[in-house]
Amino acid sequence: MASGETKSIELLKVAGVQVAVDYSWLVIFLLVLWSLSAGYFPQEYPGHQTVNYWIVGLVATLLFFASVLLHELAHAAMANRLGDNIDRITLFIFGGMARLSSEPKSAANEFKIAGVGPLSSLLIALIFWLIASALGPAGALWTAVFRYLAFINVALALFNLLPGFPLDGGRLLRALLWKRWGDLPRATARAAQWGGGIGWGLIGLGALEIFGGALVGGLWLIFIGLFLRGAAASDYQGMIVEQALGHIRVRDIMTREPVTLAPELPVGEAIEQYFLRFGYGGFPVVSEGRVLGVLSLSQVRHCKPQERAHQTVRDIMLALGPELEVRPQAGALDAIRKMNEANSGRLVVVDEGKLVGLITRTGVARIVQTNAQLAAPAPGN
Ligand SMILES: [Zn+2]
Repeated sequence: MASGETKSIELLKVAGVQVAVDYSWLVIFLLVLWSLSAGYFPQEYPGHQTVNYWIVGLVATLLFFASVLLHELAHAAMANRLGDNIDRITLFIFGGMARLSSEPKSAANEFKIAGVGPLSSLLIALIFWLIASALGPAGALWTAVFRYLAFINVALALFNLLPGFPLDGGRLLRALLWKRWGDLPRATARAAQWGGGIGWGLIGLGALEIFGGALVGGLWLIFIGLFLRGAAASDYQGMIVEQALGHIRVRDIMTREPVTLAPELPVGEAIEQYFLRFGYGGFPVVSEGRVLGVLSLSQVRHCKPQERAHQTVRDIMLALGPELEVRPQAGALDAIRKMNEANSGRLVVVDEGKLVGLITRTGVARIVQTNAQLAAPAPGN
């Protein structure tokens, strides 16, 4: 969902799947490179030249990141095979997120899509282990690299198998509960609860490590724990929103015949007679049945008080563009995305050039809230 999106760099496209890298990954890349080249390899395998540690460190880091990418691509390949679309993978922090564009079609699909990730990490671990064995003596630096890669991929699989949503293990848990209860929101709520709990567990473990003297490792665990808690909450929210709005069209929930402003009205009068009287955050600006734009509180606020008498609504409104309008038959979810992209609290609903309604973020939020309250289990259930 849009709530979890951050700034990322588009990297490459593999079989129709766009792979993007979150900026946080660049930092993580350097951290991993540094801790391998200046920490792990020199400590565990002493006696080599510094430059060699950095060469094997770089190769190990690149292959580690390639492993994470393969894990995510495995999710995407399985999803696309089953007809559940994943068209974008974002790699960040401790791994990646291959996000479905909507909830999976069935519990069985979810199980397969989630399960194939850790499975592929284990397979990659096996391959690296075989390479390490083929390379010979355990003390050699290149053997160490592939042993490390085998180990890290097992760790990646195990971490992702923790049964907290939205980790893969949490998705497996959700699939099992979904299958048993036949109730996706309830299954998601429970799996996300586990995700939150495991987040606390990681934070606690991190605190213990810090008391034990391992500051960096401890902070790392706390960081991951916090992230997991945030992801569990926001993915759950996203599911609630999708459940609530998935089948709803803009025309079902728009405000019909909204209050409109005339373009030549002075801003001061618009404030007195409309904003303060109706308490709305914005109004469509209409002249002779045609929508010219939208005037919201944010534009009004930017208009200095001494200019409000001679500036008109037309002077300061946002002129109508495709980013501010939506058709009545569009999905409510699309309307939300559009509002987020345009950073606007409302869209005008236009049909064949004519204003037919207004859809607002607060209006949609009310619908979602009502749905969530109806879907929540009754107390003591
Ligand atoms: Zn995964």
